[in-house]
Amino acid sequence: MADVKTVILATNNAHKVSEISHALDFPGWEFKTLRELGIDSDPEEDADTFLGNARIKARAAHEASGGMAALADDSGIVVDALDGAPGVFSSRFAGEDATDQDNNDKLLADLQGVPDEKRTARFVCTLVFIDDDGTEFVAQGKVEGRIGHELQGSGGFGYDPLFWPDVFNGECTLAEVPQERKNEVSHRGNALRSMRFKIEVAEAKKEGGMHQH
Ligand code: IMP
Repeated sequence: MADVKTVILATNNAHKVSEISHALDFPGWEFKTLRELGIDSDPEEDADTFLGNARIKARAAHEASGGMAALADDSGIVVDALDGAPGVFSSRFAGEDATDQDNNDKLLADLQGVPDEKRTARFVCTLVFIDDDGTEFVAQGKVEGRIGHELQGSGGFGYDPLFWPDVFNGECTLAEVPQERKNEVSHRGNALRSMRFKIEVAEAKKEGGMHQH
């Protein structure tokens, strides 16, 4: 019987769970959320960078499980005209219990009067994977675009209906494409592809199948 390696996902967000398990579908790997494993880990995400917060979540899950492999992500939107806000405060931009609608309303209000060419922004995602031997892998992804003037589209979540990715050439927002199309261009999709590559390289080196430069 092949060995199964269980990786804890330091998230309970169903969207992320399915996206991550598809992107990192290595043979023998299975992903379980903290909840599925009955592990109680809810550390305060008080770092001022995406990397800092992802690392806090991954380390806490790794430690709470007694050393199992753990993967965490942290993401948000960075708006140039707002000096990088909402950034790490993206989920609570309009307050602790803010809904997506509240956050989008605040973003539009804060950008009132800002012309198109100054509405540049990017979604950023940082992933931290801590393997069961304690090795840490970090991967980042982003997608560049602009903030629109009104909500458009009903797919996705968060700021998607306001975000016009540059790669879509002004044709639609991130909330107007199917999930698979979003994954091809998104910050999280890019971070996951980078993480997959880093893990593959590390595994190949372990097996001695790759020459180091
Ligand atoms: P977290 O990484 O789940 O903490 O996400 C932080 C916040 O960033 C979310 O609550 C959303 O507001 C925003 N965000 C992150 N990724 C996306 C995305 O793919 N689309 C829209 N909003 C996102």
